Parts: sequence; structure tokens; C-alpha cells
Amino acid sequence: MAFKGGYTGKILEVDLTTESTRRIDTDPELARKFLGGLGLGAYYLWRYMKPGIDPLDGERNVFIFMTGPLSGTPVPAQKNAFVFKSPQHGGFSRGHQGGNWNQELKYAGWDGLIIKGKAEKPTYLFIKDDEVEFRDASNLWGRGTYATAVKITKELKDPFVRVVCIGPAGENLVKITTILTEFHRSGGRYGGGAVLGSKNLKAIAVRGTKGIKVSDLDKLMEVTDAIKAQLTGPGNAFYQTYGILYWNDWANAGFGFNYRNFQEAWVPPEKYYKVSPEFYKRELMFRKYACFACPQHCKPFGVIHTEKFRGMAMAIEYEGTANLITGCGITDFREGLAATHLADDLGLDYISCGKVVSFAKELYQRGILTKEDLGGIELEWENVDAQLELMEKIAYREGIGDILAEGCKKAAERIGKGAEKYAMIGALGGELSGSDPRTPEWDWWVDYMTGDRGSCHNAGETIETQNMRRFMDSAIVCFFVTSAGYGIIDPSYHVAAINAVTGWNLTVEEANKIGERIWNLEICFSIREGFRRKDWNYLPPRMFEVPLPSGPHKGFKLDADKAKKWLDEYYKERGWDVETGIPTEEKLRELGLDEVISEFKSLGIL
Ligand code: SF4
Repeated sequence: MAFKGGYTGKILEVDLTTESTRRIDTDPELARKFLGGLGLGAYYLWRYMKPGIDPLDGERNVFIFMTGPLSGTPVPAQKNAFVFKSPQHGGFSRGHQGGNWNQELKYAGWDGLIIKGKAEKPTYLFIKDDEVEFRDASNLWGRGTYATAVKITKELKDPFVRVVCIGPAGENLVKITTILTEFHRSGGRYGGGAVLGSKNLKAIAVRGTKGIKVSDLDKLMEVTDAIKAQLTGPGNAFYQTYGILYWNDWANAGFGFNYRNFQEAWVPPEKYYKVSPEFYKRELMFRKYACFACPQHCKPFGVIHTEKFRGMAMAIEYEGTANLITGCGITDFREGLAATHLADDLGLDYISCGKVVSFAKELYQRGILTKEDLGGIELEWENVDAQLELMEKIAYREGIGDILAEGCKKAAERIGKGAEKYAMIGALGGELSGSDPRTPEWDWWVDYMTGDRGSCHNAGETIETQNMRRFMDSAIVCFFVTSAGYGIIDPSYHVAAINAVTGWNLTVEEANKIGERIWNLEICFSIREGFRRKDWNYLPPRMFEVPLPSGPHKGFKLDADKAKKWLDEYYKERGWDVETGIPTEEKLRELGLDEVISEFKSLGIL
């Protein structure tokens, strides 16, 4: 069965050890089952990455990028997707970044890129249509992500080349790393940058000059126009005006913000204005950025005012604010932007890095970490320069930075003295995102206690949203436009767009089933690595024991018994064993995951 559209029909496999490449045909049946992006990536990761492989064993680990059926079409709003085994927690992880790289890979004629092996010396890949070059990256090793992208573009003498790369933190195998594209498009979480670092792979540049196949172009344009009209219409004005910074107001009004490592779920009103979207727009914002084919252009650029980085531009959004700025006690965007700017340049994940820094700040506040422990840093909440210094130490694994580079969970274990209480972690020991779960307005705690890639805000708060989001991550549609995420576009529009591109006749119900299959496969990957329900269902004691001291929900805390009951029902409804969290054979069979059943049986898991 050939593809009528949506797929190029081939996946590129690269072996860095032997500097060789291989073409794999994209299997139409697998495409229909796992769609692309996250889903197809998860399928190949399951097959390539046998259990027990050290995620930082560059010779044996695998890193996979996948495009989706919509990649490179005019349909708003597209992202990149990649998957790997997390070096931070050891389970499944995925990343989705904006920009244009994924679409360029499609234009180069590839549905995906599977990277095996380890380069002998620092290397970057240059994929130009069918040609693949293994290029020396010795002169890039040690450089930040901004300089790396610029140097590669100049070296290749092509301004249209698209680059993904890691920063020094990834090179130093820091576990809270990400990979970057187009300066500020970051694809957290849980250590993707370190996996590429373990392979001596600094960057991947792509240039594509081919077209894509679309089954029904007229229909595709009709759906595209309908999506665009909604994204640019009055119903979406908040995103148009403030980008994702709009969420700051929403969070501070009661949906759970992060101030000082969740010691408060809001920034007190007398301090809030300078981290509000309104202040940002009036004082700092000068333009907004859009990813490929996206009229929502939700990333607003502002100007940094600190001594270090003065006058430079930084694009900011909610998670950057809530984790690296307010979460770390900084209440002025003019300074806080320096922290997000540095994180992107070093290749650190905003969310985990923010949580690690705020954890260290709280330990300093409580006397568990001292100035001496911190190598002379006076880590006061509002001290931006001290924070920047600590972030550099983490990226280069210097002194205390070497411990913090492991993430909150392992750092707390190493520090001891009761530090565990202040590590804001959830599922698989991953850091919570930027929203305090102590709010009756939103069930963040579900995301944090069940997340497929570990604790994360974008997992989903119900089984339906979890499944549909994973479908959209496979399509690959941005979380901020689909109503399965935090946008306004009903999933039926993107399903219609996929049908127009591929010639299929998918329904929304089938899309949900595909999402469920993908979610189960991700969970099974982590189950195969030894994780069980107890490793997911965790939240810091603060969330159940300490009522909010002030703010719109003063006095509120989570109820552990209620959460346990709800989760029991969740496991039943998912078709998973309530004790262990392992999907039943019946459920796996229903989802067509027969390969998982046989492997689980051979490993004694089923
Ligand atoms: S909504 Fe924002 S993050 Fe999503 S694709 Fe559009 S510009 Fe990118």
C-alpha cells in the first residue's frame, strides 16, 4: 500500500560509530497505527532500545526524531517531536519544540531520523536531501546554542539551513538538559541534550528542497483556512496579544502559580506587576515569534536589562516565568529574562533547571545548604546574578553544580539533611512544572502523578485529554492550539486535515484510540525498565500537608485519600492492574500491541 500523501515513505537511520546511513521504508500499517511524531518515534524506540541499556551509553542508546503527516503542510500549528530513554529518570521521555526543523526534514525527503552509535569526536550531521555528511564539530564543542546555530549556518553558507543543537550542559551529560532550535525553541524534558552529548553529537543541520505529497489539496486548504480563521479571530485574542504569557494572569488569579519553590501558589499582588503580561507588553516586548505555519505567534520577544546580557533579546512564556523567574523568587521580568536566556544558551531545560535552582534556594533559606556548600554563592531569592552563577555551575558540573546536575531527586538524596522534603518532584521522580497543584480550579496533580514522560504539565488531566494530546503530538500539532491541550481548535479540524493529506478516513474516535495506543506504549517502555505504579503516584509532602499560606485559595491543600481513590479508578478505567500499573493483556491486545505482550511474557512482566 503506497502513501497518497503525508509521508515520504522513508526513514533515515544514521550510525555515528561507523559513519554510515541506511534507509528504512516507512511501513503504511505502522503509520496508520502510530501516526508519526511521538507515536512512531515511541514504536521505534521500543524496538531499538532494549531494556537496561544505560541511557548515556552513546554506543548503544538511540535518539529518534519523527515528522508527522501534517509536517511541512500549511496546516497550523506544527512542532518537532523526538523520543529517547531519559538519563534523568530512566524511563520514556519525549520532547516537542517549535521552529521549522521538523518540516525541513520532511522537505529533505525523510519521515524520521533514527540516530545510533557514538561519534569518535565531536560531530554534527548535515542532511541535505538524500546526502548526509558527518562534519567535524570540534570548534563548536563548548559553545552555547546561539553561537552554534549561527556558526553552522555560516559554515554551510545557507541561511535556510535549520539547526537543532545542544549546549555545554548536554556535552557535560547534565541530566536536566534539552535540545534547542532557532535560539529559543526548546524541547524539554528529562535529558535529551545529555543523550546527544553522550553520542558526541553537537548538532543536526537540515536542508530540504523537495516537495511533499498531499492527497486532496483543495480540502486541505479549506480546513487550513478554517483553523486560521479561529486562531486569528476574537476568540483567541488573549494569545494574540500576550502569547503564552497570558497564563501568568490566569495562574496568579487562582489556577496555581509558582512562587519560591511552591512556598506560595501566587506572587503577592505588591510584587506581581513586573512579572505580569501587561508589564511585559508595555515595557519589554518588541515582536512575537511564530513556529512553522502558525498564525498564533505566541512567543513574545523582550529585552533583557541585567548587566550581563543587557540589551539582548529573549522570548519568554509561562513555564519559563513560573520556573526560572517567579519560582526562583525573581519578580521582575527585566532581570528574570537573563535566567531564561542563559538556560537556553547552556541547553538547560527551563522547568527542571528552574526547579533545581529553586530547590537549592529553599535549602539555602533553611540553612541546609550554606554559602560554603555553594562555592561562595549567596543564593538569596531575589539575587539574579547568584542564580546565573549557580546555573553555570550546573551546566559545567562544578562544585555543588555537579550534584544539582542530576535533578532534584538524586540531588536531594546526595545532600540529605531532610532535603528530600523540598524537592518538588512527581511521577518517575521528575520535577513538577510551573503550576502549583494546590488549587481547586485545575487538576494539575493528575498530570504530575500519571505523566507518560514523568511529571509534566502537558500530560493531561483526564484519560481523554491524555490520549488526544498524544495523538496531536504524533500529528504533530501544537498543544497551545488544540483544545485537547490549551488552545481553541477542536480535534476534528486536525483530523480532517490529516484525512485531506493522507487520503484516509480517520474519525475522532479512532484518533483517540491511536492516542491511547501511544500512551500505553510509552508507559510500557517505562514498565519494561522496571517502573511500577508507585513510581508514578508521587507528589511532594508539601502538597498534601501544608495549606497555602495566602492567596486566592488560602488554606487549600490536596487530600491524599481522595487522590488515591481517584487514581484507583483511573487505573481500572485504563485497563491496567490497580496494584502494579501494568496494562493487562486484554488491554494490550485491544490496542494491537501484540509485540508488547510477547516481550512482557518473555520478561515475566505478564
Ligand atoms: S501556538 Fe505558539 S508554540 Fe504553538 S506552534 Fe504556534 S507559535 Fe509555536
